Amino acid sequence: MKALVVEEIGGPLIAKDMPQPEPGPGEVLFRVRACAVDQFDLKIRYGKVPHAKPPIILGHEIAGEVAALGAGVTHWTVGQRVTSTLYLTCGRCRKCQTGRETICENFIGYLGIQTPGGYAEYTTVPEANLVELPESISFPAGSVIANAIGTPYHAFTKRMRLQPGERIIITGAGGGVGLHAIQLARLMGASVMAVDIGSAKLEAAEEYGADITVDPIESDFAEVARDWTDGEGVEGVLELTGAATISTSLKALGKGGRMVIVGFHTGSEFPVQASQMVANEWEILGSRNVTKRELAEVVALVHSGRVRSIVNGVYKLEDAETIHTRLGQQEIVGRVVLEP
Ligand SMILES: [Zn+2]
Repeated sequence: MKALVVEEIGGPLIAKDMPQPEPGPGEVLFRVRACAVDQFDLKIRYGKVPHAKPPIILGHEIAGEVAALGAGVTHWTVGQRVTSTLYLTCGRCRKCQTGRETICENFIGYLGIQTPGGYAEYTTVPEANLVELPESISFPAGSVIANAIGTPYHAFTKRMRLQPGERIIITGAGGGVGLHAIQLARLMGASVMAVDIGSAKLEAAEEYGADITVDPIESDFAEVARDWTDGEGVEGVLELTGAATISTSLKALGKGGRMVIVGFHTGSEFPVQASQMVANEWEILGSRNVTKRELAEVVALVHSGRVRSIVNGVYKLEDAETIHTRLGQQEIVGRVVLEP
């Protein structure tokens, strides 16, 4: 099979002809029809994920077909269209047993790091990770669901507990997760201030439903948010950026506000005053990806047409190097997908 391999940290994506993998017990052979490209791929490739050790076949956002069954797999049949959650979890611990497997006590790792990912024609995936993909959802559209839509879905429903009529800020709103987060927040009846750098990302944010957009280089978005909410401050912040925006986001957070931190690619540390947390009854929460049950719910939302899976380009596997360069230069709005 064709595959792209990272053989050394910081090195090129090397095209290789490799043997097709064999599914182990409880796994399926997964024919990859689409694999979305994520900033996290760049982090892995350039050594910013310490537990990622080459050789690595990247790609954790996949859609495709069940191509063969490992021993003991009973729930799936060959030819079924599927997508997958991103995390490898134990399935047995208290967290896994109570539907919180994204914080599994025995967390094993990620597709595309601890196991070969979707920058290849085939991979193997535990059957427990799979969710059926209806015919109405194309493979490229299906590949972005678990991460780009599932992540904000979990953040809004389980962590922020977003309510109709609330006003929220989304930082990094023009990226793949951000544009889907805007759609979900609007679907849940909230109003959205989209924060991101550059007119291309802000125009996309507006297209997908942002009520107001702010470039943090040009304006203090906390001031804009205070004006937007008649001085009250917002009820929620979805932080997809990290240290670069969190301090300003906190200035925009109103009484009873919930900040949910999902991304921190600009840095992880930030100051916060305990007195302000108490005085305002703030909640500062972390949120991690999506559970399998939620992924099935999100697939149903996309199937129903209430959320649009945004794919801004479909490319051949051989184009991955070019895509990585463009992604690194922040030239890609939303998600692009490879078809191995
Ligand atoms: Zn577990």
